[in-house]
Amino acid sequence: MNFSQKTVDIVNKTQEKLAKQFAETEEISTFNQLKVLNAFQQNSVGLRHLSQTNGYGYDDIGRDTLCKIFADVFKCESAIVSPLIVSGTHALTLALYGVLRPGDEMLAITGSPYDTLKEVITGEGNGSLKDFKVSYRQLDLKNGKIDLEKIKEYIKDNTKLIFIGRSRGYEWRDALSVEEIAQAVKEIRAVKSDVCIMVDNCYGEFMDYSEPTEVGVDIMAGSLIKNPGGGLAPSGGYVLGKKKYIDLVAGRLTSPSIGMEVGSYAYGYKDFYQGLFIAPHVVANAVKGSMLLGQVFSDLGFETMPLPGQKCRDIIRSIKFDTKEQLIDFCRAIQQASPIDSNVVPFPWDMPGYEDQVIMAAGTFVAGASIELSADAPIREPYIAYMQGGLTYEHVKIACMYCVEKLILSKN
Ligand SMILES: *Cc1c(COP(=O)(O)O)cnc(C)c1O
Repeated sequence: MNFSQKTVDIVNKTQEKLAKQFAETEEISTFNQLKVLNAFQQNSVGLRHLSQTNGYGYDDIGRDTLCKIFADVFKCESAIVSPLIVSGTHALTLALYGVLRPGDEMLAITGSPYDTLKEVITGEGNGSLKDFKVSYRQLDLKNGKIDLEKIKEYIKDNTKLIFIGRSRGYEWRDALSVEEIAQAVKEIRAVKSDVCIMVDNCYGEFMDYSEPTEVGVDIMAGSLIKNPGGGLAPSGGYVLGKKKYIDLVAGRLTSPSIGMEVGSYAYGYKDFYQGLFIAPHVVANAVKGSMLLGQVFSDLGFETMPLPGQKCRDIIRSIKFDTKEQLIDFCRAIQQASPIDSNVVPFPWDMPGYEDQVIMAAGTFVAGASIELSADAPIREPYIAYMQGGLTYEHVKIACMYCVEKLILSKN
């Protein structure tokens, strides 16, 4: 690919404008790098922790120590981190089934949970929470924010778990800041101090100086092929928080009689440790890439979220397109700019767990990993693409040039 001088100039000029925002991002990643380094040192990580294990995995120190490090980094009592958790959806599902019991109510206070959780919560006859007599209520966001005043109306005697989606999912809204989550926690505790507050933390790790578990959230869950895997973890998820809840979740992951006493991994834990170690830096690369692409597209006349100049609270950049064709072109440009499968042309398809057709560009080393450069979109109006990830800032910058050429210059 040879870029026109015009494209190179647009992208380089935009980059110059962002120097201050980049510096702030690097300050956060340095802070988080130190947090992770401290956790490694406090747990005396040695080469033996990275080794492979097999069979039952009793006394698997690689597994146990990885869990302890996550608990330290996220400043909570207990953590489950496992390659055996197949995805973020699985981690979130484990957390919900671990805590909720028949007769309990789950209350979501950030509108609809992520698309793949809908069937988990309110599906019919598929083993959903509803099938197990767990009821569900939802408080929608008000102008993109948690409706703090209404929370108390929605909390009932049997409200057992309150669900907060930190990231935007497939909605035209910004992610929540940790301060906003802290405010909601305060409101909730004033009404019901013992309710379990859960955060879907996908895409939120290492975005700020603190994490939701530091402001009173009880449990949170996420995916290792997003932020905290640093692009190296080949699979997995985590659930962490208060020990009394995490013990229940461990009973769901394996069995109530064995919890986290078992579980081996025959390929070794090195990529999970190293991935977590580099995660703050990788997240910062992705954030800088998101800022660049957001500013470039905004300057070209497209609406983006967050607004240019606004602090990023997750790694996603939403871009609103006028037509379905532009949306598809954008995702194809991202695929073309990828190191893997650059010759593959993505099409919208009926992806399991999603209501609308979805188009996904992910030319990634770890299949579908969205901490690597990727873009996806449900095919519905308004036509919004969600771009995220990038193992290196330089790669996102180059991908940005692909997008400018494909969407703008080739049409003029
Ligand atoms: C990605 C994501 C999930 C689900 O994770 P998968 O790994 O795709 O199953 C849930 N919630 C949010 C906000 C996400 O971004």
